[in-house]
Amino acid sequence: MKNIRNFCIIAHIDHGKSTLADRLLQTTNTISEREMKDQALDDMDLERERGITIKSHAIQMDYVQDDEQYVLNLIDTPGHVDFSYEVSRSIAACEGALLIVDASQGIQAQTISNLYLAIENDLEIIPILNKMDLPGAMPEEVTDQIVDLIGCDPSEVIPASGKTGLGVDKILEAIIARIPAPEGDPEAPLQAMIFDSVFNPFRGIIAYYRVLNGAIKKGDRVKFVNTGKEYDADEIGVLKMDLAPKKAVNTGDVGYIISGIKKANEVKVGDTITTVENPCLNAVKGFEDVKPMVFAGIYPVDTEDYEELRYSMEKLQLNDASLVFEPESSAALGFGFRCGFLGMLHMEIIQERLEREFDMTVITTVPNVSYKAYLKKDEELVIVNNPSDLPDPAKMDYIEEPYIKASVITKSDYVGAIMTLCIEKRGEMTNQVYLTQDRVELSFDMPMSEVVFDFYDRLKTISKGYASFDYYPTDYRRSDLIKLDILLNSEQVDALSALVHRSNAFTLGKKICLKLKELIPRQQFEIPIQAAIGAKIVARETIKALRKDVTAKCYGGDISRKRKLLEKQKAGKKRMRQVGRVEVPQEAFLAVLKLD
Ligand code: GDP
Ligand code: MG
Repeated sequence: MKNIRNFCIIAHIDHGKSTLADRLLQTTNTISEREMKDQALDDMDLERERGITIKSHAIQMDYVQDDEQYVLNLIDTPGHVDFSYEVSRSIAACEGALLIVDASQGIQAQTISNLYLAIENDLEIIPILNKMDLPGAMPEEVTDQIVDLIGCDPSEVIPASGKTGLGVDKILEAIIARIPAPEGDPEAPLQAMIFDSVFNPFRGIIAYYRVLNGAIKKGDRVKFVNTGKEYDADEIGVLKMDLAPKKAVNTGDVGYIISGIKKANEVKVGDTITTVENPCLNAVKGFEDVKPMVFAGIYPVDTEDYEELRYSMEKLQLNDASLVFEPESSAALGFGFRCGFLGMLHMEIIQERLEREFDMTVITTVPNVSYKAYLKKDEELVIVNNPSDLPDPAKMDYIEEPYIKASVITKSDYVGAIMTLCIEKRGEMTNQVYLTQDRVELSFDMPMSEVVFDFYDRLKTISKGYASFDYYPTDYRRSDLIKLDILLNSEQVDALSALVHRSNAFTLGKKICLKLKELIPRQQFEIPIQAAIGAKIVARETIKALRKDVTAKCYGGDISRKRKLLEKQKAGKKRMRQVGRVEVPQEAFLAVLKLD
């Protein structure tokens, strides 16, 4: 046990966590030259395509130093704010963290938030100044920033490069020297904490855990303390590039278990595994329940696929404990689920994973945050996660909306533009701190709903990419909220309704109608598009009726071109939904997010 080290790699997005993990895997020969590819731990297609880590990935490395054999359990984590729940769970399985900072970028918003998570969990922090090979690296300045932030000695900061391999040996030495070995009693009853799980189509449900006390042995009869369910430990082992079966996984180590678990809801991250024969007295303190920030409906494109969608979401939930959902129905879309997400990127990723991993084509509706409506009668509280849940305005006393504390780190040149954006987003600046001469941290109180509607993109554009953003929820405040309805062909479409602030309603109504006009293809008849607040129409556009079919403009000539056009039209149809007489494409349901 004294030769085990458990650590995670944390950083702001793109500062080089996954690439540095590659170098560690290579140096310790955990991965062969043949298997080596960039960001080897990002094994989901989606992660590789987008170049971001979505899931934490655990892997075990063997390492020899001064003739001592060490076992290093590394967990690579995502950097984006939407996935910080992944980070916090990984941190709970570790004694140390490599805090990576890009030497050309300096400390960014998620550097700070992830560092705080690590400090709260008493992890030993090893600061690393990465990307030293870049011409734009600013070692002295960024070292100062790190020293200021964590209060370490400058000599503790390790200069490194995931690209050239600089510093990798020093990092391995520091892991051994500075991160404490796990504690725990090998003789005590088994106590292991589940920190992640995944559904594997061939192997079934696989749970990942960290053994805190005792050992888990192949064939043990085990019990999950919180669910009370019992299983046989059919296969246990450690995580190499593939699963590596073992006879036992001992105190301090990280491992997996395959035990014929049938239902997704039987595995809860944060649950404790013990043995039936000699159970531990207490469950370990699990994780706080995640609080979804953004809600949207997810519906199958084909109404018959509802049950399959439920099955897929349950399986996906295994691998993403932050996804919550419950059944709902919509007049326009039929049966589906109201889902809670941690943010907009999370919502996008869930939709894509449903498609790729489960082959489900889905329609996502306009997202909104969770509001609190208080009724006049008895001050009854109604939680509004869906525009259709909004009580009759006549019966409502008032509504509250969630606020966040936002932090933006940027170059001082962009302070003015960012403050303007913040005010436009109904925010209020609460603090402004110069980190260095030309780097500023701005703090805002802002309604969460304003982050949902294109805040990131705007922030990126106005700062030319030089602004990082992080937030956490604070409180609820009164808000003048109304429901904006959309009528297609004079019929109200519930899936297109949005909850908006009154001050935005008219402009938004106008813009949504224009956008829908652009997105909904012309059909055989004229389609009026209207935006309404209650019975009052606030905007109107019209889609003219279709005259010719799409192939007409090919003048009969080129047959292959004709076929291509038809195929394109068919592909476009895939995500179409019939709403009354009107065919509506998926993009239209999210039109409100894509307004210019
Ligand atoms: P993560 O989001 O923190 O996991 O970052 P990645 O490891 O995915 O790296 C983000 C980008 O930075 C990729 O394009 C890498 O190739 C690049 N990168 C990572 N480490 C280095 C480095 O040390 N030097 C240089 N020049 N580029 C790096
Ligand atoms: Mg990564």
